[in-house]
Amino acid sequence: MAGSLLIIDDSSTMRRIIKRTIRMSGIQFDETFEAESGEEGFAKLSERAVDVVLCDVNMQGMRGTEMVKKVRDELPSCAKTKIIMVTTESSAAFVAEALSSGADGYIGKPFTPEKFQEKLTPLL
Ligand SMILES: [Mg+2]
Repeated sequence: MAGSLLIIDDSSTMRRIIKRTIRMSGIQFDETFEAESGEEGFAKLSERAVDVVLCDVNMQGMRGTEMVKKVRDELPSCAKTKIIMVTTESSAAFVAEALSSGADGYIGKPFTPEKFQEKLTPLL
């Protein structure tokens, strides 16, 4: 499967787990990039749009939902980029916040390869 992926998470362990879980799900991206903060994620997306972003919510500095809003407001180059939040939060209030920030969906932690397959396959 083609496409490019950016994983934004302040935990390097979580980024590694996400990469491994995606591999186990059978989904393959041509290129995978990583960022360890919302600020770094935004900077990378400013340089180059990707097809899919997996974005943590709770990070030092810019929260994931803030970063998504900034991308949607300021980066027309990323208009087609699908952004999925990866989060332990699943309250109705959070889901409403995530979607109103411009996210395309969310994956709850803990997650499974099947969950990634279910959420990512329709986007690719
Ligand atoms: Mg975090």
